[in-house]
Amino acid sequence: MKVLVAAPLHERALQVLKEAGLEVVYEEYPDEERLLELVKDVEAIIVRSKPKVTRKVIENAPKLKVIARAGVGLDNIDVEAAKERGIEVVNAPGASSRSVAELAFGLIFAVARKIAYADRKMREGVWAKKECMGIELEGKTIGVVGFGRIGYQVAKIARAFGMNVLLYDPYPNEERAKEVGGKFVDLETLLKESDIVTLHVPLLDSTYHLINEERLKLMKKNAILINAARGAVVDTNALVKALQEGWIAGAGLDVYEEEPLPKDHPLTKLDNVVLTPHIGASTYEAQERAGVEVAEKVVKILKG
Ligand code: NAD
Repeated sequence: MKVLVAAPLHERALQVLKEAGLEVVYEEYPDEERLLELVKDVEAIIVRSKPKVTRKVIENAPKLKVIARAGVGLDNIDVEAAKERGIEVVNAPGASSRSVAELAFGLIFAVARKIAYADRKMREGVWAKKECMGIELEGKTIGVVGFGRIGYQVAKIARAFGMNVLLYDPYPNEERAKEVGGKFVDLETLLKESDIVTLHVPLLDSTYHLINEERLKLMKKNAILINAARGAVVDTNALVKALQEGWIAGAGLDVYEEEPLPKDHPLTKLDNVVLTPHIGASTYEAQERAGVEVAEKVVKILKG
Protein backbone atom coordinates (compact mmCIF):
# COMPACT_ATOMS: atom_id res chain seq x y z
CA MET A 1 0.00 0.00 0.00
CA LYS A 2 1.16 3.51 -0.88
CA VAL A 3 1.15 6.65 1.22
CA LEU A 4 1.73 10.05 -0.35
CA VAL A 5 3.53 12.37 2.06
CA ALA A 6 2.94 15.78 0.49
CA ALA A 7 4.60 17.99 3.12
CA PRO A 8 7.70 17.77 5.32
CA LEU A 9 7.13 15.10 7.96
CA HIS A 10 9.27 14.19 10.96
CA GLU A 11 11.78 11.38 10.43
CA ARG A 12 10.18 9.29 13.19
CA ALA A 13 6.78 9.54 11.49
CA LEU A 14 8.25 8.29 8.20
CA GLN A 15 9.77 5.41 10.14
CA VAL A 16 6.37 4.46 11.59
CA LEU A 17 4.94 4.25 8.06
CA LYS A 18 7.87 2.26 6.65
CA GLU A 19 8.03 -0.16 9.57
CA ALA A 20 4.35 -0.96 8.97
CA GLY A 21 5.33 -2.01 5.45
CA LEU A 22 3.80 0.98 3.69
CA GLU A 23 5.46 2.41 0.60
CA VAL A 24 6.15 6.10 1.12
CA VAL A 25 6.07 8.52 -1.81
CA TYR A 26 7.45 11.89 -0.74
CA GLU A 27 6.94 15.11 -2.62
CA GLU A 28 6.94 18.48 -0.88
CA TYR A 29 3.94 20.74 -1.53
CA PRO A 30 2.93 19.61 -5.05
CA ASP A 31 0.56 21.96 -6.90
CA GLU A 32 -2.94 20.70 -7.75
CA GLU A 33 -1.99 19.46 -11.20
CA ARG A 34 0.89 17.37 -9.84
CA LEU A 35 -1.20 16.21 -6.89
CA LEU A 36 -3.86 14.88 -9.29
CA GLU A 37 -1.14 12.76 -10.84
CA LEU A 38 0.32 11.58 -7.53
CA VAL A 39 -2.94 10.50 -5.86
CA LYS A 40 -4.02 8.09 -8.60
CA ASP A 41 -2.74 4.98 -6.83
CA VAL A 42 -2.32 5.92 -3.15
CA GLU A 43 -4.31 4.68 -0.15
CA ALA A 44 -3.36 7.62 2.09
CA ILE A 45 -2.26 11.25 1.84
CA ILE A 46 -0.46 13.11 4.61
CA VAL A 47 -0.35 16.92 4.49
CA ARG A 48 0.28 19.85 6.82
CA SER A 49 -1.39 23.26 6.34
CA LYS A 50 -0.45 22.77 2.65
CA PRO A 51 -1.07 21.46 -0.01
CA LYS A 52 -4.81 21.79 -0.59
CA VAL A 53 -6.67 18.51 -0.83
CA THR A 54 -9.57 19.67 -2.98
CA ARG A 55 -12.70 17.82 -4.10
CA LYS A 56 -11.05 17.33 -7.49
CA VAL A 57 -8.01 15.68 -5.87
CA ILE A 58 -10.25 13.44 -3.76
CA GLU A 59 -12.33 12.42 -6.78
CA ASN A 60 -9.15 11.49 -8.65
CA ALA A 61 -7.95 9.09 -5.96
CA PRO A 62 -9.94 5.86 -6.40
CA LYS A 63 -7.98 3.90 -3.75
CA LEU A 64 -7.86 6.66 -1.14
CA LYS A 65 -8.95 5.60 2.37
CA VAL A 66 -7.49 8.28 4.62
CA ILE A 67 -6.36 11.90 4.51
CA ALA A 68 -4.17 12.92 7.44
CA ARG A 69 -3.26 16.40 8.59
CA ALA A 70 -0.07 16.40 10.68
CA GLY A 71 -1.37 19.21 12.87
CA VAL A 72 -4.70 20.65 13.91
CA GLY A 73 -6.62 22.80 11.36
CA LEU A 74 -8.43 21.05 8.51
CA ASP A 75 -8.95 24.23 6.47
CA ASN A 76 -6.96 22.89 3.48
CA ILE A 77 -8.92 19.64 3.22
CA ASP A 78 -12.36 19.33 1.61
CA VAL A 79 -13.74 17.29 4.52
CA GLU A 80 -17.24 17.20 2.99
CA ALA A 81 -15.97 15.64 -0.25
CA ALA A 82 -13.98 13.08 1.75
CA LYS A 83 -17.00 12.19 3.87
CA GLU A 84 -19.16 11.65 0.76
CA ARG A 85 -16.69 8.99 -0.41
CA GLY A 86 -16.29 7.41 3.02
CA ILE A 87 -12.66 8.57 3.29
CA GLU A 88 -11.47 9.14 6.84
CA VAL A 89 -9.89 12.48 7.76
CA VAL A 90 -7.57 12.41 10.77
CA ASN A 91 -5.44 15.00 12.57
CA ALA A 92 -3.45 15.48 15.77
CA PRO A 93 -5.47 17.96 17.81
CA GLY A 94 -3.43 17.78 21.02
CA ALA A 95 0.06 17.63 19.55
CA SER A 96 0.77 21.35 19.79
CA SER A 97 -1.13 22.28 22.97
CA ARG A 98 1.96 22.66 25.14
CA SER A 99 3.81 24.62 22.45
CA VAL A 100 0.95 27.11 22.05
CA ALA A 101 0.68 27.49 25.83
CA GLU A 102 4.41 28.15 26.14
CA LEU A 103 4.25 30.72 23.32
CA ALA A 104 1.39 32.45 25.16
CA PHE A 105 3.78 32.83 28.10
CA GLY A 106 6.52 34.03 25.77
CA LEU A 107 4.15 36.77 24.65
CA ILE A 108 3.10 37.53 28.23
CA PHE A 109 6.73 38.06 29.28
CA ALA A 110 7.57 39.99 26.12
CA VAL A 111 4.76 42.44 26.89
CA ALA A 112 4.92 42.46 30.70
CA ARG A 113 8.69 43.07 30.77
CA LYS A 114 8.79 45.04 27.49
CA ILE A 115 11.40 42.63 26.13
CA ALA A 116 10.60 43.08 22.44
CA TYR A 117 10.46 46.87 22.83
CA ALA A 118 13.78 46.92 24.74
CA ASP A 119 15.40 44.77 22.07
CA ARG A 120 14.20 47.14 19.32
CA LYS A 121 15.63 50.10 21.23
CA MET A 122 18.98 48.36 21.87
CA ARG A 123 19.37 47.84 18.14
CA GLU A 124 18.70 51.56 17.60
CA GLY A 125 21.51 52.26 20.07
CA VAL A 126 19.05 53.46 22.74
CA TRP A 127 19.49 52.38 26.39
CA ALA A 128 15.76 52.53 27.25
CA LYS A 129 16.07 51.48 30.89
CA LYS A 130 13.65 54.09 32.27
CA GLU A 131 10.88 53.26 29.79
CA CYS A 132 11.14 49.54 30.48
CA MET A 133 9.51 49.23 33.88
CA GLY A 134 7.50 46.04 33.94
CA ILE A 135 5.36 43.86 36.17
CA GLU A 136 5.92 40.54 37.94
CA LEU A 137 3.56 37.64 37.33
CA GLU A 138 3.57 36.17 40.82
CA GLY A 139 0.39 37.10 42.67
CA LYS A 140 -1.29 38.47 39.53
CA THR A 141 -4.55 37.12 38.13
CA ILE A 142 -4.67 35.43 34.74
CA GLY A 143 -8.02 34.92 33.03
CA VAL A 144 -8.06 31.93 30.68
CA VAL A 145 -10.87 32.19 28.12
CA GLY A 146 -11.49 28.66 26.78
CA PHE A 147 -10.36 25.92 29.15
CA GLY A 148 -9.66 23.13 26.66
CA ARG A 149 -6.37 21.44 25.79
CA ILE A 150 -4.34 24.66 25.45
CA GLY A 151 -6.17 26.58 28.18
CA TYR A 152 -5.40 23.75 30.59
CA GLN A 153 -1.66 23.88 29.79
CA VAL A 154 -1.68 27.67 30.20
CA ALA A 155 -3.38 27.38 33.58
CA LYS A 156 -0.84 24.76 34.69
CA ILE A 157 2.07 27.04 33.79
CA ALA A 158 0.37 30.05 35.39
CA ARG A 159 -0.01 28.10 38.60
CA ALA A 160 3.71 27.36 38.62
CA PHE A 161 4.36 31.10 38.42
CA GLY A 162 2.20 31.68 41.50
CA MET A 163 -0.65 33.33 39.62
CA ASN A 164 -4.35 33.25 40.53
CA VAL A 165 -6.23 31.49 37.77
CA LEU A 166 -9.71 32.50 36.58
CA LEU A 167 -11.39 30.40 33.92
CA TYR A 168 -14.26 30.95 31.53
CA ASP A 169 -15.73 28.15 29.40
CA PRO A 170 -19.36 27.35 28.53
CA TYR A 171 -18.54 23.68 29.21
CA PRO A 172 -16.70 23.86 32.54
CA ASN A 173 -14.55 20.88 33.52
CA GLU A 174 -14.50 21.28 37.30
CA GLU A 175 -12.12 18.39 37.92
CA ARG A 176 -9.42 19.85 35.67
CA ALA A 177 -10.01 23.30 37.15
CA LYS A 178 -9.36 21.87 40.59
CA GLU A 179 -6.16 20.29 39.35
CA VAL A 180 -4.76 23.70 38.30
CA GLY A 181 -6.29 25.59 41.21
CA GLY A 182 -8.50 27.58 38.83
CA LYS A 183 -11.94 29.07 39.44
CA PHE A 184 -14.71 29.28 36.84
CA VAL A 185 -16.36 32.70 36.60
CA ASP A 186 -18.50 34.43 33.97
CA LEU A 187 -16.73 36.27 31.16
CA GLU A 188 -17.56 39.72 32.53
CA THR A 189 -16.00 38.91 35.93
CA LEU A 190 -12.94 37.39 34.26
CA LEU A 191 -12.38 40.49 32.12
CA LYS A 192 -12.88 42.88 35.06
CA GLU A 193 -10.61 41.01 37.48
CA SER A 194 -7.72 39.71 35.37
CA ASP A 195 -4.32 41.35 34.97
CA ILE A 196 -3.72 39.12 31.97
CA VAL A 197 -6.48 37.80 29.70
CA THR A 198 -5.46 34.97 27.38
CA LEU A 199 -7.69 33.53 24.65
CA HIS A 200 -7.84 29.80 23.85
CA VAL A 201 -11.22 29.32 22.18
CA PRO A 202 -11.88 27.95 18.71
CA LEU A 203 -13.22 30.34 16.08
CA LEU A 204 -16.98 29.73 15.96
CA ASP A 205 -19.98 31.95 15.23
CA SER A 206 -20.25 32.36 19.00
CA THR A 207 -16.59 33.40 19.42
CA TYR A 208 -16.31 35.73 16.40
CA HIS A 209 -15.28 39.13 17.83
CA LEU A 210 -15.84 37.72 21.33
CA ILE A 211 -13.44 40.43 22.49
CA ASN A 212 -15.02 43.60 21.15
CA GLU A 213 -15.02 47.27 22.13
CA GLU A 214 -17.47 46.77 24.98
CA ARG A 215 -15.51 43.87 26.49
CA LEU A 216 -12.13 45.58 26.06
CA LYS A 217 -13.56 48.45 28.09
CA LEU A 218 -14.36 46.03 30.92
CA MET A 219 -10.67 45.12 31.28
CA LYS A 220 -8.32 46.81 33.73
CA LYS A 221 -6.33 49.74 32.35
CA ASN A 222 -3.09 47.94 33.25
CA ALA A 223 -4.20 44.58 31.80
CA ILE A 224 -2.56 42.65 28.98
CA LEU A 225 -4.49 40.72 26.30
CA ILE A 226 -2.97 37.63 24.67
CA ASN A 227 -4.41 36.07 21.52
CA ALA A 228 -2.85 32.83 20.28
CA ALA A 229 -6.24 31.35 19.29
CA ARG A 230 -7.63 32.81 16.04
CA GLY A 231 -7.44 36.41 14.84
CA ALA A 232 -11.17 36.91 14.42
CA VAL A 233 -11.86 36.11 18.08
CA VAL A 234 -10.80 39.73 18.64
CA ASP A 235 -12.23 42.77 16.86
CA THR A 236 -8.91 44.14 15.59
CA ASN A 237 -10.14 47.71 15.04
CA ALA A 238 -11.42 47.84 18.60
CA LEU A 239 -8.13 46.42 19.90
CA VAL A 240 -6.07 49.04 18.02
CA LYS A 241 -8.26 51.73 19.59
CA ALA A 242 -7.89 50.14 23.04
CA LEU A 243 -4.09 50.08 22.70
CA GLN A 244 -3.87 53.60 21.29
CA GLU A 245 -6.19 55.12 23.88
CA GLY A 246 -4.91 53.15 26.87
CA TRP A 247 -8.05 51.16 27.75
CA ILE A 248 -5.58 48.31 28.32
CA ALA A 249 -1.79 48.34 28.78
CA GLY A 250 -0.67 45.98 26.05
CA ALA A 251 -1.26 42.94 23.90
CA GLY A 252 0.62 39.91 22.60
CA LEU A 253 -0.68 38.45 19.35
CA ASP A 254 0.19 35.34 17.36
CA VAL A 255 -2.89 35.34 15.10
CA TYR A 256 -4.66 37.96 13.00
CA GLU A 257 -7.93 38.54 11.18
CA GLU A 258 -5.84 38.83 8.02
CA GLU A 259 -2.77 36.59 7.69
CA PRO A 260 -0.07 37.41 6.85
CA LEU A 261 -0.61 40.69 8.70
CA PRO A 262 -0.42 43.50 6.09
CA LYS A 263 2.95 45.30 6.19
CA ASP A 264 1.77 48.71 7.39
CA HIS A 265 -1.03 47.51 9.65
CA PRO A 266 -1.80 49.91 12.56
CA LEU A 267 -0.75 47.16 15.02
CA THR A 268 2.82 47.39 13.71
CA LYS A 269 2.94 51.07 14.72
CA LEU A 270 2.23 50.42 18.40
CA ASP A 271 4.97 49.94 20.99
CA ASN A 272 2.70 48.21 23.51
CA VAL A 273 1.98 45.21 21.32
CA VAL A 274 4.18 42.19 20.57
CA LEU A 275 3.53 40.36 17.31
CA THR A 276 4.52 36.87 16.16
CA PRO A 277 3.59 35.25 12.80
CA HIS A 278 1.26 32.39 13.87
CA ILE A 279 4.06 30.28 15.36
CA GLY A 280 2.13 28.72 18.25
CA ALA A 281 2.64 25.18 16.98
CA SER A 282 6.08 25.80 15.48
CA THR A 283 8.30 23.69 17.71
CA TYR A 284 10.27 20.57 16.90
CA GLU A 285 8.43 18.70 19.64
CA ALA A 286 4.96 19.61 18.36
CA GLN A 287 5.87 18.72 14.78
CA GLU A 288 7.34 15.38 15.86
CA ARG A 289 4.31 14.56 18.02
CA ALA A 290 1.88 15.55 15.25
CA GLY A 291 3.76 13.53 12.61
CA VAL A 292 4.01 10.38 14.69
CA GLU A 293 0.39 10.62 15.86
CA VAL A 294 -1.03 10.85 12.34
CA ALA A 295 1.36 8.22 10.98
CA GLU A 296 0.09 5.80 13.64
CA LYS A 297 -3.51 6.67 12.77
CA VAL A 298 -2.85 6.07 9.06
CA VAL A 299 -1.25 2.69 9.81
CA LYS A 300 -4.19 1.71 12.00
CA ILE A 301 -6.74 2.61 9.33
CA LEU A 302 -4.87 0.90 6.50
CA LYS A 303 -3.66 -2.17 8.35
CA GLY A 304 -6.36 -2.53 11.00
P1 NAD B 1 -10.11 22.69 22.62
O1 NAD B 1 -11.24 22.31 21.76
O2 NAD B 1 -9.39 21.64 23.40
O3 NAD B 1 -10.57 23.82 23.66
C1 NAD B 1 -11.36 24.92 23.31
C2 NAD B 1 -12.20 25.26 24.51
O4 NAD B 1 -12.93 26.46 24.21
C3 NAD B 1 -13.25 24.19 24.86
O5 NAD B 1 -13.14 23.82 26.22
C4 NAD B 1 -14.58 24.86 24.57
O6 NAD B 1 -15.61 24.45 25.46
C5 NAD B 1 -14.22 26.32 24.79
N1 NAD B 1 -15.15 27.27 24.19
C6 NAD B 1 -15.96 27.12 23.12
N2 NAD B 1 -16.69 28.24 22.94
C7 NAD B 1 -16.33 29.11 23.90
C8 NAD B 1 -16.74 30.43 24.26
N3 NAD B 1 -17.67 31.07 23.57
N4 NAD B 1 -16.16 31.00 25.33
C9 NAD B 1 -15.22 30.35 26.05
N5 NAD B 1 -14.81 29.10 25.78
C10 NAD B 1 -15.35 28.49 24.71
O7 NAD B 1 -9.10 23.47 21.67
P2 NAD B 1 -7.54 23.71 21.92
O8 NAD B 1 -6.76 22.57 21.39
O9 NAD B 1 -7.32 24.16 23.31
O10 NAD B 1 -7.30 24.93 20.92
C11 NAD B 1 -7.96 26.18 21.07
C12 NAD B 1 -7.74 27.02 19.84
O11 NAD B 1 -6.37 27.41 19.74
C13 NAD B 1 -7.96 26.26 18.52
O12 NAD B 1 -9.31 26.20 18.19
C14 NAD B 1 -7.18 27.07 17.54
O13 NAD B 1 -7.99 28.09 17.00
C15 NAD B 1 -6.09 27.70 18.40
N6 NAD B 1 -4.76 27.19 18.04
C16 NAD B 1 -3.80 28.10 17.71
C17 NAD B 1 -2.53 27.68 17.36
C18 NAD B 1 -1.45 28.67 17.02
O14 NAD B 1 -0.55 28.33 16.27
N7 NAD B 1 -1.49 29.88 17.55
C19 NAD B 1 -2.22 26.31 17.34
C20 NAD B 1 -3.22 25.39 17.70
C21 NAD B 1 -4.49 25.85 18.04
